[in-house]
Amino acid sequence: MRDRLRLAVPNKGRLVEPTLALLRDAGLAFEEHDRSLVARVQNLDVDILFVRATDVIEFVADGVADLGITGQDLLAEARSTLEVRRALGYGRCRLAVAVPADSPHRAVGDLRGLRVATAHPNAARSYFAAESIDVEVIALSGAVEVAPRLGLAEGIVDLVSTGSTLAMNGLRPIADVLASEAVLVANPASADARGPGIAGIDTMLGSVIAARGRKYVMMNAPADHLAALEALLPGLESPSVIPLAHSGMIAIHSVVGADDVWALLPRLKAAGASGILVLPIEKIVA
Ligand code: AMP
Repeated sequence: MRDRLRLAVPNKGRLVEPTLALLRDAGLAFEEHDRSLVARVQNLDVDILFVRATDVIEFVADGVADLGITGQDLLAEARSTLEVRRALGYGRCRLAVAVPADSPHRAVGDLRGLRVATAHPNAARSYFAAESIDVEVIALSGAVEVAPRLGLAEGIVDLVSTGSTLAMNGLRPIADVLASEAVLVANPASADARGPGIAGIDTMLGSVIAARGRKYVMMNAPADHLAALEALLPGLESPSVIPLAHSGMIAIHSVVGADDVWALLPRLKAAGASGILVLPIEKIVA
């Protein structure tokens, strides 16, 4: 058996930068060497393989890599049965059915008997079959959004995140096929043979993802304001309360949702908190 665990990650496209940021935030130290095929992690027995996002699935399914990071849309397209260990919270998009903005078609059913162009033919076929809508799926490898304009298809199935690319191409979404984000997948045999190593990486990645959505908030307050302040602070568990040198004063520390911070700060202040500090969190292992 290989002595080093192998993690396959995308070498091109939108998932590259956020994936490298996640690995670095998790504490993996490696040099990229212009994303040559293999990077050795210096502080763990792990090698990172840089391959195409679609090939990540093949590498992990074959056991050439033990773990991989890829998009859920690509797993669906590959009809992969790989176990998703963890959703990673980036690369969020949806596979959507869209038609020209000025087309008369309002619902997917209106595409019955018509042509739909896509770079995700398997996912599209499964979707239309499940909806019992008979369409001709035209498989393209790129430039899907121009297909209706060129007269190649009446509709498309394509990845959408904000919808601005669709709008720029004069297209209007009419239905969602699936939602996708980047995920960590594992080879089933590796999961047995290398359980602790895989669990270690999974936990490290999970601790970063959990921390990204949260902030550490510290404040001082008169002790008799604790109940009012505690009511505002859900936290991971109950907040830490520390007596201060000035009698009758306490410090309260808590973990809060990053998106809640702006609404929370004025309420904490109004409830008697002062000297409020908001700090980033590197990792959380619950
Ligand atoms: P690409 O960079 O176009 O090769 O896409 C690689 C993967 O990034 C896709 O398979 C999706 O999982 C993900 N992705 C996230 N957002 C988008 C988006 N707006 N358009 C295309 N792909 C996206």
